[in-house]
Amino acid sequence: MKIIDGKEISNQIKQEIKIEVDGIISNGNRPPHLAAVIVGEDGASLTYVGSKVRSCKQVGFESTLIKLPSSITEDKLIDQINLLNTNNEIDGFIVQLPLPKHINEENILMSIDPNKDVDGFHPTNFGKMALNMETFIPATPFGIMELLRRYDIETSGKHTVVIGRSHIVGRPISILMNSKGKAGDSTVTVVHSKTLNLESYTKNADIIVSALGIPEFVKSNMVKDGVVIIDVGITRVKDESAIKGYVIKGDVDFESVKSKASFITPVPGGVGPMTIAMLLKNTLLSRKISN
Ligand code: NAP
Repeated sequence: MKIIDGKEISNQIKQEIKIEVDGIISNGNRPPHLAAVIVGEDGASLTYVGSKVRSCKQVGFESTLIKLPSSITEDKLIDQINLLNTNNEIDGFIVQLPLPKHINEENILMSIDPNKDVDGFHPTNFGKMALNMETFIPATPFGIMELLRRYDIETSGKHTVVIGRSHIVGRPISILMNSKGKAGDSTVTVVHSKTLNLESYTKNADIIVSALGIPEFVKSNMVKDGVVIIDVGITRVKDESAIKGYVIKGDVDFESVKSKASFITPVPGGVGPMTIAMLLKNTLLSRKISN
């Protein structure tokens, strides 16, 4: 069994990005600039956005954090997005999800200029991804593809089962792994909450990508020997003995599954760190295009 070390790979990618940024600056150009919009005071969202901004510093990017009150109206938030859309100093921006209930996420998504949509969630970018055209690929599935490539994991002709069909993980990773090319060419089955007899699919999977958000859902008796496990799940589980009062759990029962797996991502330290690295990669791509 080999552990897929997302922390190490994400650090490698950040170093590669830093070298490119140094090159941009030494050619007399400004560095890439990422902005993040956060609405409200949700603890987990603030943590995620904080680490995105810190990572910008590590690679030499400019960053701007725009904090807005949870009472902001949808129209005012769209005004803010329009300012970012037209600001030539900003290469890309993200609007941290989830948004307060009174704001329609789809309207917000549609108001983002696809050329600055470094999360890759806008239908224009999602469509380009599905057509194998160069675009911003949603950071988490992009990170999974990069892990598969860098660990040289054979996907061609393999049966991949993706658990979950969300727009940010399950659906895009199923498209990417089914597309032509390295880390692709897989035969993909997508299972979800309405799937009957889910184990009959997972037991036949060469690769399992789990993105459902139920801690330790995938058990050893649901997988076959030699399976490759990519665990996307991140759930905070209450634990009084932990300093923070909670521990982070993945979707996979790591201890029971690891002895059967050929490769496995740990949680934390697997897919999670890759997400930020790939967001930076998308922002660098945007800077290069605008240059
Ligand atoms: P989501 O939008 O809640 O989607 C969950 C998916 O799982 C849905 O398609 C749902 O099916 C399916 N599902 C729920 N219960 C199921 C069950 N019992 N059996 C089979 N399928 C079931 O979640 P998400 O945004 O994709 O996130 C999934 C997990 O990944 C979460 O833990 C999240 O925190 C984590 N995540 C991690 C990263 C990272 O950077 N590592 C990034 C994003 C998300 P239906 O469609 O039928 O409802």
